[in-house]
Amino acid sequence: MRRVSIFGATGSIGQNTIDLIARDPARFDVVALTGGQNIAQLAADAKRLGAELAVTADPARLDDLRAALAGSGVEAAAGQAALAEAATRPADWIMSAIVGVAGLAPGLTALEQGTTLALANKESLVTAGPLLMETAARHGARILPVDSEHSAIFQALAGEDIATVERIVITASGGAFRDWPLDRLAQASVAEASCHPNWDMGQRITIDSASMFNKALEVIETREFFGVDPDRIEVLIHPESLVHALVGFRDGALMAHIGPSDMRHAIGYALNWPERAELPVDRLDLARIGQLNFRAPDPARYPALDLARQVMRHGGLAGAVFNGAKERALDAFIAGHIGFTGMADIVARVLDDLTSRSGLVDDPITLDNVARLDHLARQGVDTAIARHG
Ligand code: NDP
Ligand code: MG
Repeated sequence: MRRVSIFGATGSIGQNTIDLIARDPARFDVVALTGGQNIAQLAADAKRLGAELAVTADPARLDDLRAALAGSGVEAAAGQAALAEAATRPADWIMSAIVGVAGLAPGLTALEQGTTLALANKESLVTAGPLLMETAARHGARILPVDSEHSAIFQALAGEDIATVERIVITASGGAFRDWPLDRLAQASVAEASCHPNWDMGQRITIDSASMFNKALEVIETREFFGVDPDRIEVLIHPESLVHALVGFRDGALMAHIGPSDMRHAIGYALNWPERAELPVDRLDLARIGQLNFRAPDPARYPALDLARQVMRHGGLAGAVFNGAKERALDAFIAGHIGFTGMADIVARVLDDLTSRSGLVDDPITLDNVARLDHLARQGVDTAIARHG
């Protein structure tokens, strides 16, 4: 029996993870499940899977959770301290699938226990990559990538020497507005941005796919996870979303990972690593698919990609600024305060401002400093919106 916990169990990645675990109950012993506002789902899954503990991030929902779990024998808890405590409960494998920078602290705590961390929460690597990797190394913990591109790179690198890698190419579908006329983008609505051509994901990451902020985060994630030079990381638009990443070696070989656009592949790979288990995903019929297309991303359509390069040039806490500003700008877009293209404009302004203030992003990467820069970045976005609209 493998002891597993899922942070962000009620979300899109969390539910896909539960789907895999629930198909094979004899292999997994569920320790903790965590969620936020979706108490009904959290309680139902905790009961169904016989979890030891269910935690909601929101202390105001503790009574609801207790009521939903009454008589089940599952412990209920709430708040940041309870999330941290859940991360210290002995487990062989922990899924980090909370959305946003809130996923960083529980992931670090899990690594401090030496646990294997399946990392979907890319924000952890973007805001505090060196801290995460050092913590894992210090405690002999392993991080397994869950983001589909990074799982693909990881698989393409199996048995290879990273020193022989010339380049890493991650693909992007191009999102909802791939083929829209550029001059219409400013008017794009939230509903239009929330439709992904290929993947079924949470709303925030779907909008981030349309703006390519998601890909920008993933470029930084690639740099932090695999330790490759930013100049060796490329982004390629691939509308079919079947090739997830390619690794180019110094002998000219390009190893591509092809798989269905179903997150259960990458989650299942991390869940079963180092073995490959049978997974309930489609088998691709390439003869029927016929062709795979690729093209270079247009920097004018996707300014977020250039912002990622700036972030990597600055290093340090610039990732925390970028992520915090991006999250706040996304909130403002969803709330109707700014337009679609306003997100990248504002993030660029805040990134410029905070990285040009002497020393600010060069402070050590600690949880406190990440939180401080995240806060400053969000404030910066609010000020910019108040000033310029
Ligand atoms: P969702 O929005 O679907 O789910 C987020 C999860 O986090 C939910 O369980 C939610 O609880 C919980 N949560 C929200 N806010 C907080 C908070 N402040 N503190 C603690 N828990 C919180 O997100 P996704 O599953 O789409 O994404 C999760 C992570 O995985 C993200 O980092 C994303 O970038 C990454 N990822 C997602 C992919 C996908 O296919 N969806 C693909 C690759 C990476 P509740 O819903 O109960 O409020
Ligand atoms: Mg991805």
